[in-house]
Amino acid sequence: MSTLTYLDASPRPDPLGDAQAQLSAAVGILGYDDGLAGMLAAPRRQLTVSIPLRRDDGSVEVLTGHRVQHNLSRGPAKGGLRFSPDVTLDEVRALAMWMTWKCALLDVPYGGAKGGVRIDPDRYSHGELERVTRRYTTEISPFIGPERDIPAPDVGTDEQTMAWVMDTYSHQSGHTVLGVATGKPLALGGSLGRATATSRGVVHVALAALLDVGIEPAEAAAAVEGFGKVGRYTARFLAEAGVRVLGVSDAHGAVAAAGGLDISALELHVDAHGTVAGFPGGEAIARTDVLELEVDLLVPAAVEGTINAQNANRIHAMVIVEGANGPTSEQADDILRSRGVVVVPDILANAGGVIVSYFEWVQANQAYWWSADDVESRLKERMLQAWNGVQQKARSHGVSLRTAATVMAVERVANAHLLRGLYP
Ligand code: GLU
Repeated sequence: MSTLTYLDASPRPDPLGDAQAQLSAAVGILGYDDGLAGMLAAPRRQLTVSIPLRRDDGSVEVLTGHRVQHNLSRGPAKGGLRFSPDVTLDEVRALAMWMTWKCALLDVPYGGAKGGVRIDPDRYSHGELERVTRRYTTEISPFIGPERDIPAPDVGTDEQTMAWVMDTYSHQSGHTVLGVATGKPLALGGSLGRATATSRGVVHVALAALLDVGIEPAEAAAAVEGFGKVGRYTARFLAEAGVRVLGVSDAHGAVAAAGGLDISALELHVDAHGTVAGFPGGEAIARTDVLELEVDLLVPAAVEGTINAQNANRIHAMVIVEGANGPTSEQADDILRSRGVVVVPDILANAGGVIVSYFEWVQANQAYWWSADDVESRLKERMLQAWNGVQQKARSHGVSLRTAATVMAVERVANAHLLRGLYP
């Protein structure tokens, strides 16, 4: 588990401001009145909890956690749980809103949610993280469940975290409830293909976007920011597709090689050392420099706001595929658009994770397991269908892919509101 913290010189990320600006632009295009716009903007529920943690040395530390359910109009809330020292309620609100649009855009029958605990997981033992997860789950348990709100991994959490969430909730329910969380271990009702799903999806749309701007994947060079759950497999699948991956970074460092990194060797190095730093098959570069390498494709797969007003003009890539949620600030988005850079937005690009979470939830609720081929082919079909739909909308309306995607998603959520009517 690793967490990226913001670099001091960069502008402070404002994910909630970015998410609200994206929604406002979509609402303006759709011509909705203030009432409907307000319903789309406001989180339906937000819960902040205290998590008293008994540390291994016997002392007690009180941590803070949040769970925000942004929208429930299309189904139960869905979204990851983040463990990071940078977690704030506003960040969780932004991430929950993006989940609403992501689920609507990919037509998975969920609303959007997100959870976060303000903690640096690298500084806590396995046992401490288990106690944090179980207490947090207990505090939010009245609000979660297979028909209410279904957590999944996000930055700083993994399948072990989801096993603890599932076990804690199941103890409180008196029976095993596999459908309460997704991204679980395979042995506990996880789905084949879930661990790599976000990256598979990123690469499906990245290859389509490269072809769309006239670049053959076999001729392309790429850089990947972040080497965690998303970045690592993205680098692997890009390399498998013939793309030269020239540089990668993680929380501890970055490496680059002009002829392309040997990703298999890099993965072995990361397994042995816990970081890409020190990889002998490349030269060390500054972490921020990975964004500015001379490549065709850039995949930010870390945290929010790493592409910002300060560096947007220095980015060489003509295609950016957002593996992370909210990696591009509103100002950077404007700069990139004016430069003609194609930005495939997060709510489309990284939706593979929640798509296979949906498949996992369906399998768990039916206690019937799909083959890896079933998962992979259905994932690819949904990703490419969404890519085609967004691209056509962007073309026909002369707007960016982000605006097209947000408009399509917001319209679906608004229609659900209108069909359900306002209660009472
Ligand atoms: N945390 C992932 C995301 O941001 C996955 C969410 C999920 O599977 O519910 O999309």
